[in-house]
Amino acid sequence: MKRAALPLSLGLGLTLPFLPLSTSAKPAPPPSPAIFTASPAEPAVDPDDGSPLPPDTAAWGRPIGSRLAADSAVNAAPFTFRWPLDSVDISSNFGMRLHPVEGIKKMHKGVDLRGPEGTRVLSTGPGRVTRAGFRNKLGRYVAVAHPNGFISIYGHLSEILVHPGMRVRAGSILGLVGATGKVTGPHLHFTLYREDVTFDPLLMVGRKSDAPNDSTLLP
Ligand SMILES: [Zn+2]
Repeated sequence: MKRAALPLSLGLGLTLPFLPLSTSAKPAPPPSPAIFTASPAEPAVDPDDGSPLPPDTAAWGRPIGSRLAADSAVNAAPFTFRWPLDSVDISSNFGMRLHPVEGIKKMHKGVDLRGPEGTRVLSTGPGRVTRAGFRNKLGRYVAVAHPNGFISIYGHLSEILVHPGMRVRAGSILGLVGATGKVTGPHLHFTLYREDVTFDPLLMVGRKSDAPNDSTLLP
């Protein structure tokens, strides 16, 4: 009886990258699109208010770079950002606004999401924690680098439950909503940026979020 050939599978749903064993006439495959094409840059300015970061940023967490780009587990398939809270209730939009504490007109480089203190803050997508620390205005915060080159930032946390270097999935718990930093009350400040450009999370997450309360996102 003829034995069937064993499938080249580990039985764990894992797919091993194909490694060429010999030099053949075939042209090299094009680079995969969903990989870090540019290593996510460290923010040159405070994502909350645009003020310059201190020259020595080591205190805010371990920087990442080529090592992350080589991490196949982080090079996930294309994904859609989800909202970092299970219930989405925007209290302050992205854009110019009168700062609630400073009383002057400033760019708000993210959205504020209402949530009681202690609400779980979830990673907007798969990636790796690059920073977890404290800044005067942002309070306790976490930054996550994602395989599509974006970095997400979660501010004013009461508790941080991750540390730099940790891999996270979409929906992994990063910390808890709080009122640390320059705030008038507990909420989550959420920033998305790529290559020093901040994006309105409403445009990036939109209605494709996992949030059950998607009706709040309608114009
Ligand atoms: Zn904010």
